[in-house]
Amino acid sequence: MSDPHEPLPSDPHELTILNPATEEVVATVPAATAEDVDAAVVRATRAQATWAALPPADRARLLRRFADGVDQHIEELARLEVREAGHLLGNARWEAGNARDLLLYAAGGAERLLGKQIPVPGGWDVTFQEPLGVVAVIAPWNFPMPIAAWGSFPALAAGNAIVLKPAETTPLTALRLAELALDAGLPEHLFQVLPGHGHITGRALVDHPDVAKIVFTGSTRTGREVMERCARSVKPVTLELGGKSPNIVFSDADLKTAVDPFSFLDNSGQDCCARTRILVHETVYDEARELLADALAAVVVGDPADEKTQMGPLISRQQLDRVRSFVSDDAQALRGGAPDGPGFWFPPTVLTGERPDSSAAREEIFGPVAVLLPFTDEADAIRLANDTPYGLAGSLWTRDLGRALRVSRAVRAGNLSVNSHSSVRYWTPFGGFKQSGLGRELGPDALTAFTETKNVFISTEGPAQ
Ligand code: NAD
Repeated sequence: MSDPHEPLPSDPHELTILNPATEEVVATVPAATAEDVDAAVVRATRAQATWAALPPADRARLLRRFADGVDQHIEELARLEVREAGHLLGNARWEAGNARDLLLYAAGGAERLLGKQIPVPGGWDVTFQEPLGVVAVIAPWNFPMPIAAWGSFPALAAGNAIVLKPAETTPLTALRLAELALDAGLPEHLFQVLPGHGHITGRALVDHPDVAKIVFTGSTRTGREVMERCARSVKPVTLELGGKSPNIVFSDADLKTAVDPFSFLDNSGQDCCARTRILVHETVYDEARELLADALAAVVVGDPADEKTQMGPLISRQQLDRVRSFVSDDAQALRGGAPDGPGFWFPPTVLTGERPDSSAAREEIFGPVAVLLPFTDEADAIRLANDTPYGLAGSLWTRDLGRALRVSRAVRAGNLSVNSHSSVRYWTPFGGFKQSGLGRELGPDALTAFTETKNVFISTEGPAQ
């Protein structure tokens, strides 16, 4: 019998999907080659022509039927997400529901995607929002279902076809969503899912001349490469990249709520919006540290399918090794507990002895680890909050309205929450400043991002006599 802790060999033709809580094999899935990408894009191009020719109300009707199908399979999709990604069952149900809700929202958008009529002399001027064609969506493993949905569903509603490449470790829910799309009556090959390796399938999609746009969600390092490759053919790209978000806690805050460790422990910290830099006013630093110590000790870490569990495993051994590399055994830290293997477990941790310029305080760890840092005054809090190459999300906690308004405008991040830790709603825009990305997903403009604006001028002058 093989050692369950031994990583399985990487095979260019096949993906082995492990349950991160047990290291058991959940499935093996063929990995798409560059030739498979070519064939998928040809099929998608044909399907897109059929789809774009449908009246928007018909596209909306089919997308609503797709949403009904997702709704009827929430439990199945959620349990699949638990097995392949180690998500807590309750969270995975929310994720499947988020995919359904976004489908309904996008369906309404199809009916409301309007052009403009612009007054001009000598004629009429009108604009059209035309679909791009085939859009490729490249997704990470941390939220397989929502991120597949965010990139794909508004694009479908706007009249595009999708080729989606899920992450190597988590293709199963996306494959199931594609089956549900077919069951709902969407044209064959309109929404295709191609599991595969990043440097083979992902690159082939990015480089493909008939792919009109790339939506990439993943690390800043890979996003940079994707953008460089897109530049060669001036291909538009949306990038949703890494984060190292601040949680700024002023002395007048409701301290217990403000330093709730689930602001960085959700999804075992594998959350691009995780508030992993807890910046606390120096006068309440000791109290905050005590509250965090007690809260971390109480976190229930274990089987993600057990409804009482509050934190599950990391996605993979590779991710576990990465997280460990930031936290030495003798680091000054507050720690909770975690099971021993098998499974990829790391305890909830807050580092208390870091300098603001240390790698743990500046780099995205993507695990259940935050740093606790004191600040002296409002200006110092803003300086610390902005002292990172990232700018995705953040929270600030105060009862002073003026301060809330000043600080929320001064922090360079795409998604700020005042007296709250939540960042994501499918009807509000989402995306990053600085190296956290380019472009926005979700919200009222989600469909427009998947269109070209065409301007048509119609002369009323008549032919010259
Ligand atoms: P990753 O960059 O390693 O991989 C992301 C996807 O890109 C995967 O599907 C991968 O196969 C593919 N890929 C890898 N190399 C590629 C290449 N050369 N060309 C094309 N595709 C390639 O990221 P990950 O480790 O899967 O995900 C974690 C990262 O995602 C974190 O940095 C996290 O912050 C980020 N993330 C950002 C958001 C956001 O909305 N801003 C949301 C979730 C995750």
